[in-house]
Amino acid sequence: MSEILDGKAFAAEVRAKVAEQVARLKDAHGITPGLAVVLVGDDPASQVYVRSKGKMTKEVGMSSFEHRLAEDTSEADLLALVGQLNEDPEVHGILVQLPLPAHVDADAVINAIAPEKDVDGFHISNVGLLGTGQKAMVPCTPLGCLMMLRAHHGSLSGLDAVVIGRSNIVGKPMASLLLGESCTVTIAHSRTKDLPEVVRRADIVVAAVGRPQMVPGGWIKEGATVIDVGINRVPGEGDKTRLVGDVDFASAAERAGAITPVPGGVGPMTIACLLANTLTACCRASGLPEPE
Ligand code: NDP
Repeated sequence: MSEILDGKAFAAEVRAKVAEQVARLKDAHGITPGLAVVLVGDDPASQVYVRSKGKMTKEVGMSSFEHRLAEDTSEADLLALVGQLNEDPEVHGILVQLPLPAHVDADAVINAIAPEKDVDGFHISNVGLLGTGQKAMVPCTPLGCLMMLRAHHGSLSGLDAVVIGRSNIVGKPMASLLLGESCTVTIAHSRTKDLPEVVRRADIVVAAVGRPQMVPGGWIKEGATVIDVGINRVPGEGDKTRLVGDVDFASAAERAGAITPVPGGVGPMTIACLLANTLTACCRASGLPEPE
């Protein structure tokens, strides 16, 4: 049976460390890091995410600024708000909750965020900086995955890693980060030939697909580390639903050396990393040493 990588406990440690550093910033420099979250429309999942981001931002002692806009908000109005937040000295991090309504060009909005305040790491400048191995704002979900991998393995150098999924928010930045750690990285996607064979070679498997339990244990190399990013809601008992990952946890746990559960794995790390990124952005903006 494999080691369960407890993202919930790890995230609590990260948040406690952030809270300690926020308190020190306030005491020593009178600075309070601030995170602005912009939500357009009333997508129920986005509402839940935004609420929990706001709650945790306050819990670590940061200022939380929530901007809830109507579904029919124009792109021009949204860009104006982003411009205002870019100029606001109390705001060190800006997050525009995705997805945005179809009438808004999401790329235009994300790229309007000042790159140094782009705590989601989606601005084209941060994508370029990460891709070229320079100091960037790193997207929160892959950053959380990397933190768990580093904590488990120490050095990742020379390990074979497979990232299943090539999205801009998870798969591609995850692959860049693993390459930065000197892994040999394969990025798999819906057109990959013989995915089971590709996965079988990997010492590290990161699954970010969005298909419930599509990776069976039989694909996993004995002793590999499995990071399951997927969050899929499936029918549960009676009329209830439950969350499962992209990996079939029960069978994969029989073979993996270590594995993240869903829920309680990657998910909690994402918000913890958002707070860590906001702290980093605040330190950079204030000319102070960055948190470790
Ligand atoms: P996307 O839908 O943007 O990307 C999915 C990727 O999976 C695509 O690259 C797609 O390939 C690939 N894919 C689809 N089907 C297959 C297949 N049969 N075999 C191999 N690859 C396949 O999803 P995201 O990256 O945004 O999210 C992935 C999952 O992670 C979702 O479940 C999401 O909910 C979850 N997630 C979790 C977060 C967290 O905090 N834990 C944060 C963000 C996402 P192609 O490009 O060829 O279409």
